[in-house]
Amino acid sequence: MEKKYVLSIDAGTTSSRAILFNKNAEVVEIAQYEFNQFFPKEGWVEHDPVEIWNTQIKAIKDVINNSKIDPNEIDSIGITNQRETTIIWNKETGKPVYNAIVWQDRRTANFCDELIDKNMGSLIQQKTGLVIDAYFSGTKIKWILENNNDLIELVRDNKLLFGTVDTWLIWKLTNGKYHITDPSNASRTMLYNIKEDKWDEDLLKLINIPEKILPNVVDSSSVSANLDKEILGVEIPISGIAGDQQAALFGQLCINKGDIKNTYGTGCFCMMNTGESFVMSKNKMLSTIAWRINGKLTYALEGSVFVAGALIQWLRDKLGIIKSSPEVEELAKTVGDNGGLTFVPALSGLAAPYWDPYVQGTIFGITRGTENGHIARAALESIALRTRDIVIEMEKDAGIKFTDLKVDGGASNNNLLMQIQANLLSTNVVRPKTTETTALGVAFLAGLATGFWNDISSIEKLWTQDMSFKPEKDFKTKVIIDLWQKRINRLLKLNE
Ligand code: ADP
Repeated sequence: MEKKYVLSIDAGTTSSRAILFNKNAEVVEIAQYEFNQFFPKEGWVEHDPVEIWNTQIKAIKDVINNSKIDPNEIDSIGITNQRETTIIWNKETGKPVYNAIVWQDRRTANFCDELIDKNMGSLIQQKTGLVIDAYFSGTKIKWILENNNDLIELVRDNKLLFGTVDTWLIWKLTNGKYHITDPSNASRTMLYNIKEDKWDEDLLKLINIPEKILPNVVDSSSVSANLDKEILGVEIPISGIAGDQQAALFGQLCINKGDIKNTYGTGCFCMMNTGESFVMSKNKMLSTIAWRINGKLTYALEGSVFVAGALIQWLRDKLGIIKSSPEVEELAKTVGDNGGLTFVPALSGLAAPYWDPYVQGTIFGITRGTENGHIARAALESIALRTRDIVIEMEKDAGIKFTDLKVDGGASNNNLLMQIQANLLSTNVVRPKTTETTALGVAFLAGLATGFWNDISSIEKLWTQDMSFKPEKDFKTKVIIDLWQKRINRLLKLNE
């Protein structure tokens, strides 16, 4: 039967999604199920791995039933996932030994402080490209293993497996035959040597992780496993694996050195392709593996803003000056400029490049003339300014001046925000037609491995632009940036 589709499995932080793409990279069908978020203690965040699996398989079956396609028409499967989230299970019973510890979970912060106190920062950065943080999987694995005495015996008897969500789902999809991940996911564990492309013995010793529980690391685009026949009645190659941000980078076709994308969701995730070179950041950006194709690694620099779309939610839910997030654009357009306001969106501290968890959100410059429109405009500017902070440091680290910023995510639909971004970066901002860049990226990785798409040039044609925003000459770029820098420095000093 003719192969007409690639199935993307998009295992996100709040929902499990399945998306069917055709050869033109168009979405044919989507199904999505949310799952529960557990917050057992302050700073702890967990998921139930069985619920992740159940919702995921339900979404997969829904897209097939609703689109009325024959599973034989599916060429291949790609999996993209929330990164870092840690699952350990018993390979004999198939049961998780603990809930999934989610990337947001801070329970291992004290152990990370110990590593920092022992001056391990530089060693870990050189090996993994990461800044020591509870965010990554390594210390979460340690926590699970050390908080249940029964596990010592199971580790000794070779009964436990660790995986990020991609690994867990592939294990389930193959009925326990494959225990694999790809380098983009492995590089977020703080256990993977991204220069040598292998689990790092020194770090495994330092964090006390037994190597035998770790998955094999396969190419991001290769036929590495097959869907078990029992699941959909047909074997389908699983041939694409990538963490969500890396998949989005690929889906945006940021495949050459210097290509950069920014995702405007709850926060912003900015990623720049740095080609074959591992660029170690001097400005507290993360270096990471973008993907491995035909055994060849591509690296990336990554920086994130914790609060972006979430700031617009705050305007909506707490300040009540808009009823829906998109309304912020109309409100901001009721004024010609920001009225002298600078909004520092430090609602959960400031991440890269400031890394100050204590600084708080602040609006500078309020006068009797300040209107809601000014606040809305300053809020949009603040998202663009935080993105600019990151992009500038990335350019310095990589020694690359990029030409276009490709954008996606919910808030990228805001034309005014995108125009402000182009103005403040003095570069073009380009938005693609498909906003499903994460799922599309891993579909591309899967379909390239099987020959569904022949080569990169055949998928390049499929990336279509929705809008391009060019810098406007009459925008007060310098005034806004100067004021931002002056005011943010003043705020950071207040906290010293
Ligand atoms: P996530 O994947 O992080 O849940 P999404 O990509 O779905 O995020 O985007 C949702 C976020 O984008 C929300 O925080 C919302 O406030 C914001 N958002 C959505 N549409 C707009 C808009 N038109 N203007 C500004 N912000 C928006």
